[in-house]
Amino acid sequence: MTLTSSINNSQRLQLAPLKIPTRLLLGPGPSNAHPAVLQAMNTPPVGHLDPAFLALMDEIQSLLRYVWQTENPLTIAVSGTGSAAMEGTIANVTEPGDVVLVGVSGYFGNRLVDMAGRYGADVRTITKPWGQVFSLTEVRTALETHRPAILALVHAETSTGARQPLSGVGDLCREFDCLLLLDTVTSLGGVPIFLDEWGVDLAYSCSQKGLGCPPGASPFTMSPRAVEKLQQRRNKVANWYLDMTLLSKYWGKERTYHHTAPINLYYALREALRLVAEEGVENSWQRHQKNVEYLWQELEDLGLSLHVQREFRLPTLTTVCIPEGVDGKAVSRQLLNEYNIEIGGGLGELAGKVWRVGLMGFNSRKENVDRLLEALRQVLPK
Ligand SMILES: *Cc1c(COP(=O)(O)O)cnc(C)c1O
Repeated sequence: MTLTSSINNSQRLQLAPLKIPTRLLLGPGPSNAHPAVLQAMNTPPVGHLDPAFLALMDEIQSLLRYVWQTENPLTIAVSGTGSAAMEGTIANVTEPGDVVLVGVSGYFGNRLVDMAGRYGADVRTITKPWGQVFSLTEVRTALETHRPAILALVHAETSTGARQPLSGVGDLCREFDCLLLLDTVTSLGGVPIFLDEWGVDLAYSCSQKGLGCPPGASPFTMSPRAVEKLQQRRNKVANWYLDMTLLSKYWGKERTYHHTAPINLYYALREALRLVAEEGVENSWQRHQKNVEYLWQELEDLGLSLHVQREFRLPTLTTVCIPEGVDGKAVSRQLLNEYNIEIGGGLGELAGKVWRVGLMGFNSRKENVDRLLEALRQVLPK
């Protein structure tokens, strides 16, 4: 074959095969995937309508209902990261003009505000300093004032390390006839969650934090009340890819082609969820709690203080105050470059003030705490 145009070779880099350092990921996510999950991900893909794959999708749905403690029929994985599943919850139940009330006490509350605004919501907020949580009284007052169609809260604020208590919130949402939307991205698998008992109507998560899986396939669920709001919409969902009226036909009986599922990521998610079920989700919660308490003790013994009041601290993510006179970024850089350990820095109100240490999923183990503390003892000024 004769080419009429000449080839431009300027981008034709001559590279060695991929070589990435092995890191211990103790930041706000991703966390290290379990080796069995990586192995499952290496399984050759089948077609997205292959009976073997459809059976695997059903297993993912059942396992997600288990780890979330819900009976919601519409419980699936969204092909995308946690933010895609987050957008899915907003896109499906928000109609232009709906009042959406968001509890903002960190970075991810603000992301919900941004998303809801893009779908035409009349967004209202209640705010708290980063690291604090909303009381039931504050939630009641806000519902009385704003009369929202949806109340959106972040269960585990990864930017602050605080855990929002949920007890009683679902009852208030029924009293005020609104849906309860909950971000469980940094809680699923590591923090006790009882979606149905709490009366949560919409929830989403991700694969790469408490589930110990690579990023890209994200848990999503809608209660029958939320599905009813979806069915009563005047207009189509403004996002084609995340429209649950279409997606539920792929995940449900019809098995209608919607998009090509990222087959290997679903293999990985299935294995990650299987491992949680094998351990028992309540045992996984206990393991996270035990290891984080050990981390807190060790950090305090080193003379460091923690940003969040003990009763509201997350077992998956700890914010550590950077001591006066210490260059937080330099410490993180040294941990990464010399010890292959990743930890996170602060965002927003907490930028430059805290480090963020994650103990999530497969990474929530005593030996990882010991490895981090050993490195910190070397790196921190005496
Ligand atoms: C990580 C995170 C998200 C976003 O998930 P991605 O997988 O990064 O898209 C949303 N909410 C919270 C609380 C998170 O920690």
